[in-house]
Amino acid sequence: RFITFEGGEGTGKSTQIKKLADRLKAARMRILVTREPGGSPGAEIMRHLVLSGMGKLLGPEAETLLFAAARDDHVRTVILPALNQGAWVLCDRFADSTRAYQGSLGRVPVGLINAMQRVTIGDLKPDLTIILDLPVEIGLQRAAVRRGTGTPDRFEGEQLSFHQGLREAYRKIAAEEPARCVLVDANFDPDTVADRVWTALRERLLP
Ligand code: C5P
Repeated sequence: RFITFEGGEGTGKSTQIKKLADRLKAARMRILVTREPGGSPGAEIMRHLVLSGMGKLLGPEAETLLFAAARDDHVRTVILPALNQGAWVLCDRFADSTRAYQGSLGRVPVGLINAMQRVTIGDLKPDLTIILDLPVEIGLQRAAVRRGTGTPDRFEGEQLSFHQGLREAYRKIAAEEPARCVLVDANFDPDTVADRVWTALRERLLP
């Protein structure tokens, strides 16, 4: 089973993945937790390149190609082998991030995005995508607390309107693909959100 988590900055994806991983482990499932951009040694190098500010030197298409190269390596060397061995793969961000960040907000033509998806992921589709939804002011505040005195990464530092557009892009994806996506209100304490994620998973993926 392949489960992806999506959402804007500070929506709690990594916290929720950890909580879901704990529940699946308790249910004696074999799991792999991974993330994008990154998740394999090669892709982590590319993650550093795009998030370090070098991303700003690149045009939107080049940046998108770099994300795609990272995904290609991650899918081939980590995700597919784990799925083939019967593990549950929980991935922090996946193709919907590309659609939201580079497609809706980066204004990269959808044709380029679709072409790259075909190359990098082919028929691989998440069985379930949890989209964590939160007012952007709250998410950015949470992200700032987590970061402490460090500087925001290239995307966290974008304007409020960017983050609002991102939230809209994710809500649109959830509305367009209800069979795969569940929009979860993340404006609750982590355990309440985790219960809702678990309910969504049980209803859709557990017998
Ligand atoms: O989820 P996480 O904070 O680790 O993501 C790292 C950064 O990469 C985020 O700021 C996110 O906005 C950005 N990103 C992106 N395009 C993607 C995936 C992630 O701009 N396709």
